[in-house]
Amino acid sequence: MIVIRVALPVPIRQHFDYLVSELTAPAVGCRVLVPFGSRKLIGIVWQVSPDSSFALDKLKTVIEIIDPQPVLPPILCSLLSFAADYYHYPLGEVLISALPALLREGRNLADYQPLAYRLTEKGKALDSNQLRRAKQQLALWQALEQSDLTESMLLQQFSRAILNQLIKKELVESYPVAPSPFVAPTRLAAGLQLTPNQALAVTAINQAKGRFERFLIEGVTGSGKTEVYLQCIAQYVITQQQVLVIVPEIGLTPQTLARFQARFELPILCWHSALTDSERLHCWQQAATGAAAVIIGTRSALFLPFKQLGLIIIDEEHDQSLKQQDGFSYHARDLAIKRAAIEHCPIVLGSATPSLESLYNADNKRFIHLALPDRATGYKVPDFTLVDLKQQVLQFGLADISLAHIRKQLSLGQQVMLFLNRRGFAPALSCQECGWLTECHRCSAFTTYHKQSRQLICHHCGASKAIPRQCGDCGSTQLVPLGQGTEQLEQNLQTLFPDTAITRLDRDSTRRKGALNSALDDINSPGARLIVGTQMLAKGHHFPNVSLVVIVDVDGALYSSDFRAPEQLAQLLTQVAGRAGRGGSQGRVLLQTHYPEHNLLQDIIHNGYAAFARSALLERKHTQLPPYQYLALFRAEAHNSEHCQQWLNQVAGLINKTPQLQLLGPIPSPLERRAGKYRWQLQLYSANRSIIHTALTSLLNEFMAWPLTRKVKWQLDVDPIDLS
Ligand code: ADP
Ligand code: ZN
Ligand code: ZN
Repeated sequence: MIVIRVALPVPIRQHFDYLVSELTAPAVGCRVLVPFGSRKLIGIVWQVSPDSSFALDKLKTVIEIIDPQPVLPPILCSLLSFAADYYHYPLGEVLISALPALLREGRNLADYQPLAYRLTEKGKALDSNQLRRAKQQLALWQALEQSDLTESMLLQQFSRAILNQLIKKELVESYPVAPSPFVAPTRLAAGLQLTPNQALAVTAINQAKGRFERFLIEGVTGSGKTEVYLQCIAQYVITQQQVLVIVPEIGLTPQTLARFQARFELPILCWHSALTDSERLHCWQQAATGAAAVIIGTRSALFLPFKQLGLIIIDEEHDQSLKQQDGFSYHARDLAIKRAAIEHCPIVLGSATPSLESLYNADNKRFIHLALPDRATGYKVPDFTLVDLKQQVLQFGLADISLAHIRKQLSLGQQVMLFLNRRGFAPALSCQECGWLTECHRCSAFTTYHKQSRQLICHHCGASKAIPRQCGDCGSTQLVPLGQGTEQLEQNLQTLFPDTAITRLDRDSTRRKGALNSALDDINSPGARLIVGTQMLAKGHHFPNVSLVVIVDVDGALYSSDFRAPEQLAQLLTQVAGRAGRGGSQGRVLLQTHYPEHNLLQDIIHNGYAAFARSALLERKHTQLPPYQYLALFRAEAHNSEHCQQWLNQVAGLINKTPQLQLLGPIPSPLERRAGKYRWQLQLYSANRSIIHTALTSLLNEFMAWPLTRKVKWQLDVDPIDLS
């Protein structure tokens, strides 16, 4: 018997050793089933014959070795172990969470061999006239007459429903195939004629083939970043190397997919949270076997195994959703850079509004900076016009001048986009007699009035309740909506423009499966239209028919205590504005505000994001905030506010004498109460990353044993993005 060390998905920061027969000893990265207390757990073999171990007679024996070959190849093992270390998260949980659910449950990979499809004897003998009424079925039948198709190739062109119909008619059958690497194309579809700046970017990136290099493309909205990605990808797939493209939002994957598929006749797969478990496993296998040429995915695509990864692209690298919020709070951009280093491949970060972190790295020559300062179409990036709302009569929150512009564009058959970052009908219901407001009883926040679903919903904890008939304070029945959300704006716009089609794009309107895609289809069809939406509108969408963007209200975001708030607002405004004039016309942006003289607005309007970012970086330098110092954040939540404060005080007490480490707190979090729990935080700053790292390591060893630690729900967030 020999000893193996197994990483188990338990929140305990300790290793677990087991015995296994030397003859069948599994390799590092294989799954094993082991006894753990009274349970059985699936873990990952982490070391074979570790240097030191517990006494052999105390060790239990492995129950089952699940994999003959590692499911986690060495590259992933090193990435994940780096991540566990860096984010101070238990290794076993990090390793297991990187696996698709079916593998976590212990399913056998061999049982999920991909399928290919061919015509049955009946299918081969079919007279095509019999399918003339079913065009799609006919097309699939014809495609299969040419050659068999693997499942992923087939589903790129045809829906599963069509396939199932032919299977039901016994015209088509499946058979398992061993996945093999995709075949490199012999020639590539020609791309667009590149602008000189685009050409420089493509050349620079392609010259880095085969070695680790970091690029930041700072390209204004519509500068043709996607075209640059496509032409780079072409150079990699032609030598049979795979490419990983990470996008921030699931809504962007189908759009990006369509654009990529139009360019390459290659297996391109999507990875995102809406996939079923078996779709995920399929994608995992296609990546691991090299069958997939390109994978477009949201942040966790970073943990897919690749047979031959040649290039990583992170689109919209500034986007906050690249950072996981709960639990293992990794940043996909930062880990992707680590992955590129391990894989010895280049990585490209792209954005019109790069994060200050990435600009800082570009200034320090850690990243190679590639600029695309102009739109590829020749039109200018739209200018902002400030609309001063002071002393104006507003109609449904819109100034006369805004309405005049909207009318004009609609009469020209153009689309107008209205941005309002509040979903629902109104941010609260209010009593006209006494001013009482509907509040969430579990959070320090108001509840949003949703008229369509007839509910008050808390956007922080998700709790919903029926609309009250009476004021909770004085009993009056005079309850009215206070303020305007997208649902109300849509309704009001319909009153103002009864003949114009309106599309609303927010989390509520896109909840139903397929709703987002059908909204995007509407927007991409020509003709006058109003588009109302939240920050969802800012997420890299290509809306060719929008000529005017109206930013209805951002005043609430101008005064925030979070040091990242100005950066985030500047990004949001620039991205939303960037949706205008992307097709064949010059765009225009109206920004309504009560604070036209506000510094940030003036900066963005007169100097643009790039200049704003440089001055914001200077300010971060003066105040010694990230990226000039490193930051780690402890959050504590409990029903008892004092427990949080006490616990964080104890944590602070352990490290407040550490040289070169500054503490801020404990302080109550900006949202002091959420879902019934009080929330506090402690911030750790240091100019030296290893000082924070060492402090955290010793802290975690120490406080896990405190009785108070069990009374609070705590989280450690390394490089936090959201301080709420
Ligand atoms: P970004 O990703 O930077 O927002 P896109 O790649 O979506 O920009 O390009 C914006 C528009 O410009 C698209 O309609 C695209 O087809 C067009 N475009 C991009 N590159 C070129 C080029 N070199 N010549 C002409 N049009 C281009
Ligand atoms: Zn009242
Ligand atoms: Zn709530």
